[in-house]
Amino acid sequence: MQININRDRLIDYFIDLVRIPSPSWKEEKVIEYIINVISKYKDDVEYYKYKCGDSFNLLIRLKGNLQTMPLLFSGHMDTVIPCENVKPVISDTKITSDGTTILGADDKAAIAVFLEVIACLKENNAVHGTVEFLLTCAEETGLHGVKGFDVSLLQSKAGFVFDSNGGIGRVMIKAPFQITYDIQIKGKAAHAGIAPEKGISAIRIASEIISSIPHGRIDEETTANVGMISGGKATNIVAEDTSIALEVRSMDRQKLKAVEKEMENTARTVTKKYKGKISINKRLEYSGYSIKPDDKLIRLLSDSMKKIKIKPVYEASGGGSDTNVLNKAGIKAVNLSIGMRDVHTRKENIMIKDLIDGARLVYAIIRTV
Ligand SMILES: [Zn+2]
Repeated sequence: MQININRDRLIDYFIDLVRIPSPSWKEEKVIEYIINVISKYKDDVEYYKYKCGDSFNLLIRLKGNLQTMPLLFSGHMDTVIPCENVKPVISDTKITSDGTTILGADDKAAIAVFLEVIACLKENNAVHGTVEFLLTCAEETGLHGVKGFDVSLLQSKAGFVFDSNGGIGRVMIKAPFQITYDIQIKGKAAHAGIAPEKGISAIRIASEIISSIPHGRIDEETTANVGMISGGKATNIVAEDTSIALEVRSMDRQKLKAVEKEMENTARTVTKKYKGKISINKRLEYSGYSIKPDDKLIRLLSDSMKKIKIKPVYEASGGGSDTNVLNKAGIKAVNLSIGMRDVHTRKENIMIKDLIDGARLVYAIIRTV
């Protein structure tokens, strides 16, 4: 398949975007930039800003001139910090920051690629079905943008999120469910030297709970981690309060449930044994997803990759992304690599080849569907 990606224009979009700071909830300037770029195609490119918290999600719709399945492409507009004053350094092959900030390829590489693909489709007068680009806000702080987006606004029922790291071709066909826990343990304060027997140590209860619950890698699909603990006031006071924060992840809903049950039972039994009190607050951060290798979406992807000679690599992700939320809401989606590397660090970088291949891939999918 012959695809004429304009390398310089694509790099320009990318450089412009990473120079605009956009920490979570402060995506406004990036939104302005994108709207400015696409408004020159106003006859057949629509866009909608949907309020979400203090910011907006942006939906761009490219009206199709062919009857095929509408397709969604998605990425997020916010970045982690430090993202002020990003000074991109461009070599022949690679783009990095100057080392004092992140680069912001996560996930502005996806946005630059989408803008380039829109430009290419337009200048080639390409025939294509309806294509939607959903650009979310506040992904990095808890997938807030996509969680606050009403997917019934989409015409697409399936699509591709470009928000994974590594070379173009990696496809996350599976991702875990994640539950987080905030556990508060209440004991009874007493003077540690004069009357320790009158006290109930919340710290002792917490430590027995932590050493008794499943932890670390539970099986190949399931993990658990106590990530924070705090409590107590002084060495001479039997600790009255302790809190524990932990998470559990599993690709399998049933396994997750089993671990949840074991954790909660253990925590309650231990607390009861010492006559303490416990409150357990848990939250499903996101649901997992699993797309079968013979799914239509995967076939479309592998056919598209074949046309541009990219080899797909199917993997399971250890973490959550907007993809999890979309799947849960009924939009079948996989998460794909967009070429970013060493993300969330000052060493973040992207190969120019991956930027170009990302654009070729999106273009190929749109022309293959
Ligand atoms: Zn990201």
